[in-house]
Amino acid sequence: DRLTQSLLYLDGVSVSFDGFRAINDLSFTVEHGEMRAIIGPNGAGKTTMMDIITGKTRPDEGTVLFEGTVDLTRHDESDIARLGIGRKFQKPTVFESHTVEDNLELALKRDHGILSTLFSDTSAEQKARIDAILDTIRLGHRRADLAADLSHGQKQWLEIGMLLAQDPKLLLVDEPVAGMTDAETVETARLLREIAGEKAVVVVEHDMTFIRDLDVKVTVLAEGSVLAEGSLDHVSADERVIESYLGR
Ligand code: ADP
Repeated sequence: DRLTQSLLYLDGVSVSFDGFRAINDLSFTVEHGEMRAIIGPNGAGKTTMMDIITGKTRPDEGTVLFEGTVDLTRHDESDIARLGIGRKFQKPTVFESHTVEDNLELALKRDHGILSTLFSDTSAEQKARIDAILDTIRLGHRRADLAADLSHGQKQWLEIGMLLAQDPKLLLVDEPVAGMTDAETVETARLLREIAGEKAVVVVEHDMTFIRDLDVKVTVLAEGSVLAEGSLDHVSADERVIESYLGR
């Protein structure tokens, strides 16, 4: 049926911290190749939701299924990464003292450890993958430069490239445009739109101009539950959404 065809399926998910219900009966579905945006005020539960999907936090109740059959609540973080869920945190974690190209190579051969990676041959196939990723993240002209010399935006794109090297089926991206220039923000929307389709992408973001650029279905989270879902125009016209952002 439809559920087992969805890439990610959350139903009736709840989690409490010391009696405080951070996620409350949350349901959320992502289809293969679909891009989605999650918005919501501070404390809405966005981070906790991503933590549940990636196995960092185990829900008290509810169903979390990947590819229809894999119960993510039974797997730990490294299992879930291997299953094909990549997560990009807000702060870039590129290797500053390595070149752009070496960073991608490290990500591609991640399971082999840093030393053997830097001293092992790169196959023609791996080189082609690196070239393709450099194209996607538009950093081909910076491939030989140290990651330390990239702009803040370029570092974020490099990190997205490093996640792509792991070939995930689902990418979770936390506030990708925080601290970016307007031009970098526009470029990031283009990049994510290009990735979507091939991979599913869930973006957590506050920047409404950016979300409008993404042109995706938006889920508004408040007090651990879905408050509204639909186009940005649809959710931003919702009285409860306006209230939850402006406060009562
Ligand atoms: P958001 O990312 O939308 O700002 P969070 O998921 O970080 O929201 O937090 C949701 C709520 O859960 C907040 O009230 C936060 O204080 C609480 N919370 C999150 N993680 C923990 C934790 N490990 N222990 C206790 N409370 C937590």
